[in-house]
Amino acid sequence: MNIPQTNQKRIVIIGSGFAGLTLAQNLKGSAFQIVLLDRNNYHTFQPLLYQVATSGLEPDSVTYPIRKVFQHQKNFFFRIADVASVDTKRKMVVTDHGELSYDYLVMATGAQTNFFGNKRIEDLSMSMKSIREALDLRSLLLQNFEEALMANTEGKKKELMNVVIVGGGPTGVELAGALAELKSYVLPNDYPDLDISQMKIVLVQGAPRLLPNMSEKASAKALEFLQSMGVVVLLNKVVKDYDDHCIFTNDEQIPARTLIWSAGVMGQPVTGVGEINRGNRVEVDEYFQVRGAEDVFSIGDVASMTSEQLPKGHPMMASVACQQGIFLANNLKRIVKGEELKRYEHIDRGSMATVGKNKAVADLPNFKTQGILAWYLWMFVHLFLLVGFRNRVVALIDWAWGYFTYDTGIRLIIRPFKRKVVEPVGNPDKTESVNV
Ligand SMILES: Cc1cc2nc3c(=O)[nH]c(=O)nc-3n(C[C@H](O)[C@H](O)[C@H](O)COP(=O)(O)OP(=O)(O)OC[C@H]3O[C@@H](n4cnc5c(N)ncnc54)[C@H](O)[C@@H]3O)c2cc1C
Repeated sequence: MNIPQTNQKRIVIIGSGFAGLTLAQNLKGSAFQIVLLDRNNYHTFQPLLYQVATSGLEPDSVTYPIRKVFQHQKNFFFRIADVASVDTKRKMVVTDHGELSYDYLVMATGAQTNFFGNKRIEDLSMSMKSIREALDLRSLLLQNFEEALMANTEGKKKELMNVVIVGGGPTGVELAGALAELKSYVLPNDYPDLDISQMKIVLVQGAPRLLPNMSEKASAKALEFLQSMGVVVLLNKVVKDYDDHCIFTNDEQIPARTLIWSAGVMGQPVTGVGEINRGNRVEVDEYFQVRGAEDVFSIGDVASMTSEQLPKGHPMMASVACQQGIFLANNLKRIVKGEELKRYEHIDRGSMATVGKNKAVADLPNFKTQGILAWYLWMFVHLFLLVGFRNRVVALIDWAWGYFTYDTGIRLIIRPFKRKVVEPVGNPDKTESVNV
């Protein structure tokens, strides 16, 4: 990998997401040689991927080149590499570009979509964990509308226009809201020869309420917002199967050629690092040290520090990953100075979700709010967290433009999405059973 061997201790960080990037930035000026590895040469701001998928933001507003972040950081090396495994006995990271030794290793590889073992849904649904997936979804939505124009039956047109989202967490809620705004303000102008009122946006949630990790008030308000925007919300419903034309829940059939899966995530650990729990996350102690692996730490979505209060570990959130990155950087600096390590104490900074223009919900540590104030707070926080001044300015301009015109004009099919072909699972009639 051509990383010089010096007398500095080497920290290898796998993953330049929120956790890994914040850690590397906060190690600036430390006595370590820092090597950051990622399979991409950019950082992805996942919370705004849904806006790329719904043509609200350009992909380069939510991604940022890693090299640009570290242009002036000394003793820092970045390599594009896919890490296959770690050999903790030899203290060696095994990548698709060879091996690399470490003194300290930090695994910050994030999370992946969890399809709970349903291979057919995995093959046929769209997920949104990466910029590629968000762009695929953008293409598919637009391709379906183009195809609907040429469909010769009303049933086929509806099937192509309908969108079903599975999972009523923040991603599902935000996506449903953004699609509802597209349906109301953009699609009727783009496709005047289609009856857009026939399009259904259905959000299927297995739990009794939306946003189950937020307050009851936030859940109720999000439901009210979505219903007022024409989204069909199905609570206590589980999607069982999909044949690329029809979605089957416990008791409904919904014809749709777009199924978006946002119903679950699980850790994405590298083979060979520590004990992996039921959430596919690696168990760490209160210093983020991986149990049973010396000099190996893990932070962010992939790490799970469980306690009585938090039996499933900390929430998988960007703000949490950043907090852990800053904390671990300070502890690693303590190691060099021979000081005692500090135990992690999590600070809950709250959570929020936006549904549409002037419509958001925010549960903050000191107060809860819904509506326009929450929406401004959401915008401010996301602008602040975006990496790079340019990205903040571009996102702000796009949002301001969209606020006044409802039309950002970036509905481009640059790289058409190709569906997988599978055999139907039955129900040839595909009677629509969802009432609006
Ligand atoms: C659609 C969506 C919406 C979200 N919305 C919100 C929100 O509104 N608010 C919020 O707080 N959080 C939100 N989140 C969650 C938030 O994005 C994550 O909690 C956060 O990204 C976790 O940071 P991380 O550094 O642990 O992992 P990530 O940001 O996922 O970074 C992991 C990095 O590791 C790299 N990597 C993984 N495996 C390997 C390997 N084997 N070799 C090399 N590189 C590897 C990946 O390329 C990636 O760059 C959302 C997530 C998604 C997907």
